[in-house]
Amino acid sequence: MTFENIIDDKNMLENLKKLGFTKPTAIQEKAIPPILERRDVLAKAKTGSGKTAAFGIPILLHLDIQKRYDINTLILAPTRELANQVASELRNLARFEKNIKILTLTGGTPLRAQANSLSHGAHIVVGTPGRVLDLLHKEILKLDSIQTLVLDEADKMLDMGFADELNHILEKTPTSRQTLLFSATFKDAIKQLSHSVQKDRIEIEIEEQVNVTEIFLEAKEDKEEILKGVISKYTPKSCIIFTNTKAKSLELEAYLQELGLDAFCINSDLEQIDRDETLIKFANGSCNFLIATDVASRGLDIKKVELVINYDFPQSDQTYTHRIGRTGRNDQKGMAISFTNQKGDDISLHVKDKFFYYEASMGTLCIDGGKKQKLRAGDILGVLIKQAGLLNEQIGLINVTDFYSYVAIEKNALKKVLNKLKNCTIKTKRYRAWII
Ligand code: AMP
Repeated sequence: MTFENIIDDKNMLENLKKLGFTKPTAIQEKAIPPILERRDVLAKAKTGSGKTAAFGIPILLHLDIQKRYDINTLILAPTRELANQVASELRNLARFEKNIKILTLTGGTPLRAQANSLSHGAHIVVGTPGRVLDLLHKEILKLDSIQTLVLDEADKMLDMGFADELNHILEKTPTSRQTLLFSATFKDAIKQLSHSVQKDRIEIEIEEQVNVTEIFLEAKEDKEEILKGVISKYTPKSCIIFTNTKAKSLELEAYLQELGLDAFCINSDLEQIDRDETLIKFANGSCNFLIATDVASRGLDIKKVELVINYDFPQSDQTYTHRIGRTGRNDQKGMAISFTNQKGDDISLHVKDKFFYYEASMGTLCIDGGKKQKLRAGDILGVLIKQAGLLNEQIGLINVTDFYSYVAIEKNALKKVLNKLKNCTIKTKRYRAWII
């Protein structure tokens, strides 16, 4: 099966090629045709399955670009991170056309800024239920023109207690809308939700592929020592460690940093910008270990996670599946090691040996300018090569956010670059740069 079998639009097909989407994933194969026919779809699919593009591609193809002020599609997601991730994936997919406006409406950003963005019009809005409802109540957001509504990770939204918010939001949308429901499970509450909000729906379920080697280790006491042993044995370059509490995630962050490792935790107490920066550093190879609780990690899309460690054993099967699903994505091999208080697998760990310490290979340079200053990755790349004398291969991922840009640079070149670029000029404007 190829994309050509299910999509006609030449520009979209070309853009998918540029994005490296060589063939549709299972969910895309099954979901794109009925969504293109404007059917309601209930799909069981996890993050990592390609589900965002499964609804994103047909939605983008349905857009009437001329009608800029009418919001055509509303996508609701459980967390800020997921909403941002969906929006960024959609922006990539939207490059087949000029002028598609996609807006995120989530907490953590001032209402006034969002009201201002909304006044300029948008085709697609991606938001969290709380903030969207807030904007609806204040009559800043209007949903009369919605043609398609997506509930992404619907099970999570119900688990997080958003049922009332969802109902209120749905009431404000036209009944003629197309409703798409994506969920990692098909439990009763999801079926009920589907019956109440969808008409004549098609149900899609995908068999999962297992790419993850699962290992269970007995770890009742001395869990920190065992963790050290696991790290020494596998020396992962990108590893997510799950804890059940925020307090434990902070403790582990301190412990791993004391061992000299590049480890950071994300939790909901942190400022949004700190969470975003940590995720950027983890995704670009400047941080090898991310310590997270389930809430903080919801829906994270990080391409290459070699190892997931369940330091605290998850409290439900669903959480277990969700956690280990962070690794082994996009057909890569992954590994999940879970600490349990029962007899585990027979793996030899030399926990008392000298600890093998290693650093992340990249560091991150932050520049105080972003999309709002009209900076693009290409502009930054040019300056790094021409002004700072870097080679292309010394530069890793470049993330341009609204007000800041982040560049991964080989660690041994980082200081030199900083000296040259502390105050730099990009496209005639002056910027400051520092290492984060
Ligand atoms: P998602 O399940 O939407 O979180 O997507 C997981 C990741 O797979 C994202 O980084 C997508 O960019 C990527 N992806 C989605 N569809 C394809 C495809 N057909 N081929 C290759 N990568 C894809």
